[in-house]
Amino acid sequence: MKYSITIQNQHFENLKGNLIKVDGKERVAFIICGRSIINDIEERFLSKEVHFLSDDKLLISEQNQVSWDNKYFIDVLKKAEVKNLAIVLVHNHPEGINSFSPVDDNGEFHLFKLAFNRNGGANSHASLIMLPDGNLIGRVWKNDLTTESISMIRVIGNKIKLNYPNQTDDYESPEIFNRQQLAFGSSLVQDLSNLKISIIGAGATGSATALLLTRLGVGELCLIDKDTIEESNLNRLHGAKISDVGQFKVDVLKKYISEIGVGTKVIAVKEWVSNLNCIKQLKTSDIIFGCTDDHAGRILLNRFAYFYLTPIIDMGLVISVKKDSFELGNLQGRISYLFPGSDCLITKGNINIDIAYSENLKRNEPDNFKKLKEEAYVIGEGNPSPAIVTFTTQIASMAVNEFLNRIQGFNPQALTAPHKIFFFHRGIEIFPENITENECRICGKSNYWGRGDMEPFLDMVI
Ligand SMILES: [Zn+2]
Repeated sequence: MKYSITIQNQHFENLKGNLIKVDGKERVAFIICGRSIINDIEERFLSKEVHFLSDDKLLISEQNQVSWDNKYFIDVLKKAEVKNLAIVLVHNHPEGINSFSPVDDNGEFHLFKLAFNRNGGANSHASLIMLPDGNLIGRVWKNDLTTESISMIRVIGNKIKLNYPNQTDDYESPEIFNRQQLAFGSSLVQDLSNLKISIIGAGATGSATALLLTRLGVGELCLIDKDTIEESNLNRLHGAKISDVGQFKVDVLKKYISEIGVGTKVIAVKEWVSNLNCIKQLKTSDIIFGCTDDHAGRILLNRFAYFYLTPIIDMGLVISVKKDSFELGNLQGRISYLFPGSDCLITKGNINIDIAYSENLKRNEPDNFKKLKEEAYVIGEGNPSPAIVTFTTQIASMAVNEFLNRIQGFNPQALTAPHKIFFFHRGIEIFPENITENECRICGKSNYWGRGDMEPFLDMVI
């Protein structure tokens, strides 16, 4: 069983500003968190809102001690109770001691006892210590009042920051990654080896993305695609041979990656993204790459990024030629980094709702789809769209660099642009800004950010 916490960067900055002050005293805050639970595999806390106790509400605030009236804690418990949300208690250690003290043990025991007595429920709560440099360590409080350690704390914003036990500045990376370490240091190698990344779609861009992430040293990949390989895919599908035609794309890719032998663990899932097994994989991923043309799948992913605070890097490539000629109309690539703080794909007009409807109908009610298509009520499949391996691979490579920059920060200026569009035939790139006064239910300042598990899933009626 793994426990982890994901914190929105705006919450993290708020915590830092309010807890760490020049007077070097201990202070306290409560984070109300959504829950993401996969039984016996992972329980994740997702920051929804932060509550601080101002200095006048603290009974004691010293260099190594903080205490407050429980009534403030009960106010927070009341807020969390309604939606079965979790509480994460945060206090700082001004002297930089990176472990829970006996005073912390005792204080938290009584506090969480109160939480379980008052709010009930079998689900856990958690506590964090913030060190003077902003690094976090944490533990989980279970309903029998025993604790478990937290294996990953993520801070999600323009950058993705990771905190995990054994994280070190002088990590000894495997020989294979020496050349990469020369550019970006060994701590990046260690971070990547601790990540699980899901890739939706194992076609042209998905296969390229998977191989690049493998060679960067990502610890675990989950490949999701229900399609099998056709001969007409071989012009762009990395890792596929003529003898693989008819095999599942994810199986062939998994075998190829395993044979590279850099130690990446690979899971292959032959389902649509809305399938329960896929959702289980997404909920246990740190990052997700969207490498599909599937508009129905994108609607789900688009919500998932904000509900589960899991960054999604979605990519697309459009090639069009003018009718009855080989004259290029458009050769356009797109990369979108979705997180609470960026406009979503619907706001940016990257999802066609009519196509999504027709895709869902085709999967769930094929007879009805056929009938409506004959009557021209739904959008059918047109001619196959053009595809060129150099451009599908280029956009995948750019998307993986986008991810690297979000982790490593080699190009700070590009971090402020979540959406990037490239017109390859004209040598133009544009970075559309977030719209102002966004009223979108997903990416506008929303109650959904960090909501996690709820019924219906993603508050979505399919
Ligand atoms: Zn939106």
